[in-house]
Amino acid sequence: MTTRLQSEAPRSVTILGSTGSVGVNTLDLISRHSGAYVVEALTGNCNWRMLAQQALETRARFVAIGDDRYYAPLKEALAGTQTEIGSGASAVIEAAARNADWVMAAIVGAAGLAPTLAAIRRGAVVALANKEVLVCAGDLVTEEVRRHGATLLPVDSEHNAIYQVFDFDRIESIEKIILTASGGPFRTLDRAAMRAMTPAQAVKHPNWSMGAKISVDSATMMNKGLELIEAKHLFQLPPERIEIVVHPQSVIHSLVAYVDGSVLAQLGSPDMRTPIAYTLAWPGRMASPSPRLDLAALAQLNFEAPDPVRFPALRLVREALRVGGSAPTVMNAANEIAVQAFLAGAIGFLDIAEIVEETLTALPVGPIDCLSDVHNFDKDARDTAARLAKIRTGASLASA
Ligand code: NAD
Ligand code: MG
Repeated sequence: MTTRLQSEAPRSVTILGSTGSVGVNTLDLISRHSGAYVVEALTGNCNWRMLAQQALETRARFVAIGDDRYYAPLKEALAGTQTEIGSGASAVIEAAARNADWVMAAIVGAAGLAPTLAAIRRGAVVALANKEVLVCAGDLVTEEVRRHGATLLPVDSEHNAIYQVFDFDRIESIEKIILTASGGPFRTLDRAAMRAMTPAQAVKHPNWSMGAKISVDSATMMNKGLELIEAKHLFQLPPERIEIVVHPQSVIHSLVAYVDGSVLAQLGSPDMRTPIAYTLAWPGRMASPSPRLDLAALAQLNFEAPDPVRFPALRLVREALRVGGSAPTVMNAANEIAVQAFLAGAIGFLDIAEIVEETLTALPVGPIDCLSDVHNFDKDARDTAARLAKIRTGASLASA
């Protein structure tokens, strides 16, 4: 059988967040199939050196650096090349709006919303890694996908797994979906031990190598909560039909349970190049160098129920979904600020979920009818969470 990669003209691709963990994995796959892809645009935020190197290697037509301070060194590094250069948030949106067949949305956080929407509004095939986009504005984003005839392909390993075994033509035959969670680096710790955990310990994920924010989210298990909301929007299922099970080996990436009792799963080694390759070659398949599974060597796969007492983020997410409206947007923004404060050493590990909960309690809930609602609630939540983080930093300095 010939795949589209062998038979068709090169596919033009844009990578939003090319300097991050998902971005680098995407470029790794592209470099192994270089004749099949041309790079339209790449974007980064601060790491201009890596962005320049990527532009030189791929001959990208356009690069955008989010932080204006790095425009001058980036421009100098690319002097004499054909690559056009832009800077600032508007240039990142411009990169997404340029005419590429396929766009990887791999910016971290709600900062990825506007560029992802720019790609969706072109009707592009969008490989979505940036889960926060669906958490903060899920209904608006899925409506834009529908209106513009865009295609959203999930990159997140759990959602990619479900996508591969989900019968979209017979949704009524699906009973529930089951998201697997590794449990993160603190899976077996009690709350007292978690209290002392440092940023360096939190970002040391047992199975996956990922960016700092999602690694901390995995440690708090907020990541699985964000993924529950992501799944609700991608697969249009109510939260009570989305289950979470802890599976420490991260081999079964997620499952779909059907009404006849069949449960279909996708398995693979924990290497993001497998789900990324699925989206890059879609609707075909391409070779990926991900390590192959050796089931006999694995010998066993384990499962346990998630613990919402030790991991309160799981409870907060279900609660935010129950309340609805602005609550998921607020929860997401507060979490981004709390994770940043934790990574900066300003607050402790357990403060993260507490700040998220306090922010949710402090802000009134309202409807999300348009993008400016998202921006307003997002901003209020960031301000509130930053204030709450500051109080905690002050308190811990005073008691030191
Ligand atoms: P990362 O921190 O490694 O990279 C983030 C990218 O976003 C970088 O290119 C950075 O320059 C860019 N960026 C950050 N802030 C920006 C801003 N304000 N404006 C423009 N660009 C900005 O993150 P990652 O681990 O690659 O994750 C990216 C997204 O994919 C996240 O939403 C994450 O939850 C999701 N995801 C990641 C993995 C993984 O294995 N890393 C797996 C599943 C889902
Ligand atoms: Mg995931």
